[in-house]
Amino acid sequence: MSRNAESTAFRSALEVIRAVEPRVADAIGAELTDQRESLKLIASENYASPATLLAMGNWFSDKYAEGTVGRRFYAGCQNVDTVEALAAEHARELFGAAHAYVQPHSGIDANLVAFWAVLADRVESPALKKAQVRQVNDLTEADWFALRRELGNQRMLGMSLDAGGHLTHGFRPNISGKMFDQRSYGTDPATGLIDYDRVAEAAREFKPLILVGGYSAYPRKVNFRILREIADSVGATFMVDMAHFAGLVAGKVLTGDFDPVPHAHIVTTTTHKSLRGPRGGMVLCQPELADQVDRGCPMVLGGPLPHVMAAKAVALAEARRPDFADYARRIVDNAQALAEGLLRRGAKLVTGGTDNHLVLIDVSGYGLTGRQAEQALLDSGIVTNRNSVPQDPNGAWYTSGIRIGTPALTTRGLGTAEMDQTAELIHTVLTQTTAGANADGTPSKAKYTLDPGLADKVARQATDLLATHPLYPGIDLA
Ligand code: PLP
Repeated sequence: MSRNAESTAFRSALEVIRAVEPRVADAIGAELTDQRESLKLIASENYASPATLLAMGNWFSDKYAEGTVGRRFYAGCQNVDTVEALAAEHARELFGAAHAYVQPHSGIDANLVAFWAVLADRVESPALKKAQVRQVNDLTEADWFALRRELGNQRMLGMSLDAGGHLTHGFRPNISGKMFDQRSYGTDPATGLIDYDRVAEAAREFKPLILVGGYSAYPRKVNFRILREIADSVGATFMVDMAHFAGLVAGKVLTGDFDPVPHAHIVTTTTHKSLRGPRGGMVLCQPELADQVDRGCPMVLGGPLPHVMAAKAVALAEARRPDFADYARRIVDNAQALAEGLLRRGAKLVTGGTDNHLVLIDVSGYGLTGRQAEQALLDSGIVTNRNSVPQDPNGAWYTSGIRIGTPALTTRGLGTAEMDQTAELIHTVLTQTTAGANADGTPSKAKYTLDPGLADKVARQATDLLATHPLYPGIDLA
C-alpha cells in the first residue's frame, strides 16, 4: 500500500466535506492532530487502520437491510449480504466460533441481543413459543400478560462494577439492572483476584439464569473453564462479554481456559477496543442460540449499519493475519512493562500487576482521588480514565483508581522501553499533584494543585516520546 494513496484518500475526502461544511472538515483534521499528540492510555480505545476507516465512509451507509443474510425485509441487499457474510465468516474463523452475528451497533447492543437470545431460549413461556412461530395474531391479552410476567425478573449473576464488571452486566444505571434480578460476585479483598469458590457459592445460592463473565477493568486472566463448570452446576447459561480483551483472544494470547469462545454458550464483544476495528459490536454463539441471535434486528436493534459491517470485515481480515498475533503479544508485554515501571517507582496497583492489556493504579497511594489524578494527567498530555477500585470508598464518580491500557500505544509501535518512560511521566505527575480543599476547608475530591510548568514539561516529554512513533504515518493532510 503506497503511503501516497492513504494521504490522497483522506485529503480528497476532507476536500469534499469542506465544500459543504468546512467546520466539520476542520474538526476531523483537528481530531487527527489531537490523537497524534496525546499519549493515549485509555484501555478501551485504539487506532483502526486506514482501510477500516475508509470502508466506513461510503454509500453502504445509505442502505436499509433489516433481517439477516438472504432473509431481508428490504429488496436490493445483495451487496450488504456480501459484506455481512464476509464479516461473519472472518469472525467465525478468527475465533473458532460456530456462529457469528455482526450487526450490533455497539457492545451494549450486542449484550442486549444476547440477553434476548438467552431469555427466548431458556424461559419456559407458552405465549412466547406461540409468538416465536409467528402466531402473534393468535395471542390473547392474557397471553401477552403471561409473556411479560414470564420473561421479567429473571436472574443474572455478573462481576461487580467496582471489581471491574460492566454496567450492562445487570447494574441499575443500565436497562439490564432493571430487567434482571441481579447479584454480583466480587474479588478477594486481599489479592484483588476472582475467588472462584465464592462465585460458585453465589451461583448455588442465587441460581441465575445467566452467569456473566468478562470485565472492563480487571487486570488479570479469567478462567472461563471454571466459570462454565459453575454455570453448568446450577443450570445457568454462560455468557462472556469479551469487549475489552477480544484482541487478545484473536491474537491467541488468551488460549485454553482463558479463551471464552470454547467455554461460553454465548460471547459478546465490541470491535473497536483491543480488536482494533470500527466502533461496533458482535455476538458469537453456539448453534442452539444462533436462530434467536439472528433475530437481533429488528427484535432489539435498529437497521444494520452496512458500512460498519464492511469495516468489520476489513478489520477482522486484518486480525486473521499473523502480524496481529504479534501485536496482541506486544500489547501484553507493554502492559506488563508499564506495570513494572510503576511498581518500581512505588505505585500501588490493583492485583499487583497485570496479565492482560490494562493496569489499574490505586491512586489513593498518592493521596488523590481518581478524578483528581485523571485531570492532572490530562493537564500533562496523558489521557487516561478514572475507574473504581474494589470496595472503592470514593464511589463510581470520583473513584480511587486510574485505568490505563496499552492497545493504542502498541498500535503506534511503542515498546517496553517507552512504557518505562511512560511510567516515569505518570509517576512524576501523580507525585507532584496535591489534593485541594473546598471553600469551607474540607478536603475536595475534585480540586487539586499541579504546577503548570511541570504539567507543560511532562506534556512536552510525552510529545517527544510519541514523535518517535507517528500515528498514521501514511497520512499527510497538509
Ligand atoms: N462491555 C464491556 C465489557 C465494555 O467495557 C463496554 C464499553 O466500555 C461495553 C460492553 C459497551 O460497549 P459500547 O460502548 O460499544 O456500547
